[in-house]
Amino acid sequence: MSNKYDVIVIGSGPAGYVAAIRAAQLGLKTACIEKWKSKSGKGVNGGTCLNVGCIPSKALLDSSHKYSEAKEAFGGAHGIATGEVSIDISSMLARKDKIVKQMSGGISGLFQANKVTALYGSGKLLAGHKVQFTDSEGKEEILEADNVILASGSVPVNIPVAPIDKDVIVDSTGALEFPEVPKRLGIIGAGVIGLELGSVWGRLGSEVVLLEAMDTFLSIMDQQIAKEALKIYKKQDLDIRLGCRVTGSEVIIKGDAKEVEVTYTDKDGKEAKQTFDKLVVCVGRRPFTDELLAEDSGVKLDERGSIYVNDLCSTSAPGVWAVGDVVRGPMLAHKGSEEGVMVAERIAGEKTVMNYDIVPNVIYTHPEIAAVGRTEEQIKADGEPYKVGVFPFLAIGRAVAADETDGMVKIIAHAETDRVLGCHIVGPSAPDLVQQIAIAMEFGASAEDIGMTVFGHPTYSEAVKEAALAVGGHAIHMPNKKKRK
Ligand code: FAD
Ligand code: NAD
Repeated sequence: MSNKYDVIVIGSGPAGYVAAIRAAQLGLKTACIEKWKSKSGKGVNGGTCLNVGCIPSKALLDSSHKYSEAKEAFGGAHGIATGEVSIDISSMLARKDKIVKQMSGGISGLFQANKVTALYGSGKLLAGHKVQFTDSEGKEEILEADNVILASGSVPVNIPVAPIDKDVIVDSTGALEFPEVPKRLGIIGAGVIGLELGSVWGRLGSEVVLLEAMDTFLSIMDQQIAKEALKIYKKQDLDIRLGCRVTGSEVIIKGDAKEVEVTYTDKDGKEAKQTFDKLVVCVGRRPFTDELLAEDSGVKLDERGSIYVNDLCSTSAPGVWAVGDVVRGPMLAHKGSEEGVMVAERIAGEKTVMNYDIVPNVIYTHPEIAAVGRTEEQIKADGEPYKVGVFPFLAIGRAVAADETDGMVKIIAHAETDRVLGCHIVGPSAPDLVQQIAIAMEFGASAEDIGMTVFGHPTYSEAVKEAALAVGGHAIHMPNKKKRK
């Protein structure tokens, strides 16, 4: 087979594999290089998202949610008696692994169907669009391409005060694999991973303590929603301690068992200690470029170690593009996939652009948090006039019927044009509801447009309609503070 391609993609996470498929759909001869290996040592596609990220974490979130619902007899009020409920962790983990295998196999199937050449091994960008490919046996080959797309992703940030030993102190990948439920689970970082994986193990019986350095909870989210979510998490016994800086950790061997003593400075500046059976470090992720770029590749990094790209994901080297977690912007699977589509279409000569202002963001706790567009804090800081409509799920028939009344929908619109600027939700089906607003925003909708749309009854999405009506001061199913204009 010739070693010359139209497009070579390095990395088959959601940014890389989507770019490869789209390029091949557009008639470009495409190869995708991937170095990830399964537990059995086989090359697999899907990157962080499929192997140790979005998919396995959601598998565990769903299993643990079903367990906690059954254990609490679905809230009791439904009249369902369950008897004693137990969980077999090894079966739960096996189910997760099976899902990962199925999804990763799905990408390989899509590669075949679209005639993307899958190459298992590592890729290194050389000068002049050349790629050094090293297969799993160490055999090297130089490949040529008119265009190269770098999609090498990200890895967890390590902190010296809590070094990962893959046993007692683990990162998010280790926290997807605990063979039994840790009695005392410490988590450094109350961000997305801390909340999601803390929820998993908390539902299964761990006493979860999250040590968060910032004084503000979920500082990048809309603060009205973050405060509401914090109240809900506290009811779920997630012990979230803000303003806590971890200064050290010591693994202690106790007979056959091990534990870890964490030292931290609390919000009042006092030193405190806490002992855990397992400690998860999830303080963010960093772009991954190790052994990716030859010195003369011409690709520059920015001050944060991300590959420097412009709005079209073009790097500083002609014909070299970069997408996904390895470039600026939120580290989200769908953001990388859309960049992958944009780049593939650009290479094929189309004029595609990506709308970075409308990228939904979700935290998959129960209830979920979902957001799109700007927060109230950001809009205020931008000095734009705005109006807000908030509607609680407590006043939504479907939510009451389902006993899912925690949370609210918040819609923010421009005070003069009424154009929707952001939507922030904590509550049932939040990710699917926020997607409705993402579509509305793509079409430049006003809050009134959404309020005038007919919504099915009884649905959770009626909270979206009511919040949109509340922007104009005329929600139907609650008293309005503002008068109808
Ligand atoms: P990655 O998925 O990291 O893939 C990069 C790939 O490149 C890897 O397979 C790597 O092996 C390969 N690679 C790197 N260098 C080379 C090389 N030199 N040669 C060959 N191959 C190479 N995001 C969401 O949107 N929703 C979620 O629910 C969500 N949940 C998450 C849960 C967890 C626990 C974690 C850790 C992350 C989660 N994320 C989620 C984030 C999401 O996984 C990432 O944003 C996404 O995977 C980034 O995609 P990517 O293609 O840029 O990189
Ligand atoms: P994060 O940025 O969401 O949260 C990290 C938290 O750790 C922050 O609140 C930060 O203030 C805190 N922190 C940093 N250093 C600390 C320290 N020394 N001590 C205590 N706290 C500290 O990062 P994450 O949870 O590790 O997740 C990484 C990324 O993966 C996310 O930003 C997101 O892009 C992606 N992800 C997305 C999803 C999703 O979309 N549902 C799920 C998981 C991960």
